[in-house]
Amino acid sequence: MTITGIEEIINPLQESKLNKKGLCDYVINVATGCTHGCSFCYVPSTPVIRTNQQHLKEKGINDPQLDWGKYLLIREDIPEKLTEVLEKKKTWKTTPSGKGVVLLSSGTDPYQNKQTAKITLGAVEILLKHKKRIRILTRSPLWLNHLNTLVDNNITVGMSLPYLDDELSRKIEPFAPPPSLRYNALLKGHQRGCRLYVAIAPTPPMMKLDDFQYYLEKIMKFKPEVIFWEPINARGSNGKRMLDAGLDFASIIADKKNWAENFILQWDAIETAAKSVGCLDRLHIWADAQLKGFVDETKLTDWIGKPTVEQWANNI
Ligand code: SF4
Repeated sequence: MTITGIEEIINPLQESKLNKKGLCDYVINVATGCTHGCSFCYVPSTPVIRTNQQHLKEKGINDPQLDWGKYLLIREDIPEKLTEVLEKKKTWKTTPSGKGVVLLSSGTDPYQNKQTAKITLGAVEILLKHKKRIRILTRSPLWLNHLNTLVDNNITVGMSLPYLDDELSRKIEPFAPPPSLRYNALLKGHQRGCRLYVAIAPTPPMMKLDDFQYYLEKIMKFKPEVIFWEPINARGSNGKRMLDAGLDFASIIADKKNWAENFILQWDAIETAAKSVGCLDRLHIWADAQLKGFVDETKLTDWIGKPTVEQWANNI
């Protein structure tokens, strides 16, 4: 059973540290919780959920980390609150790697259902009115319903697409739309002139050079401006959720050395594949500070906080 409800927040526009990943300087999360409930999801291990346990318990959610996927508290008043915030806001944070971008969303899927899609559209319209740069990140094709708004030089739409294997997806992220639907949505978005990116993330350890090669050839058909990549980790409550879902590889990558070795192997594989497919310039590695001691430190520092290659309209 899914616990659903409404949640009020004071300021929907939060500064974000996701500039380290080249994603944004601000985030807007349209809900707390996510009904996609992906087994590997890192969100329940982040402070957003960990420091909010009491509030969530009051809403009837007993274990906000392990019950991830079984609750959704929607923030209906975001468009109204966002208008108030932007009308008063005098300064705008713009780091070299965050580029002043607003990401919807980092802690939930902004297009997981019609309700969140409506709030997302409302927020996007207000951000556009204020000439802000917007990055959408979703696993759902529902954004195609909003192409009239989303085809804009100040918006880039991205989908998380770690693999193109629907069967594998049913084991790892059974409640999210299958990769074949996501892939087709990206092709349609490309045909309609939407600016796109893709997050090949997080990849399970069984993906090897041949998989990346095949995959990159397919995704280059919709010309993503940036191709983000990172492998799965199992260092929070997601390790237990993956094991509960029957994903035995989680017990192997729970060991830091194994995780790091797998990271490095896949990093080499995706770079080699990207070189051969001709998209190395678009590949953006989400390097992880915990690799320190396992890879050359300059390689790490080069990627953490590196700006992405896509260009934005000048007006922010
Ligand atoms: S769609 Fe994203 S936020 Fe939602 S459960 Fe999956 S990984 Fe987490």
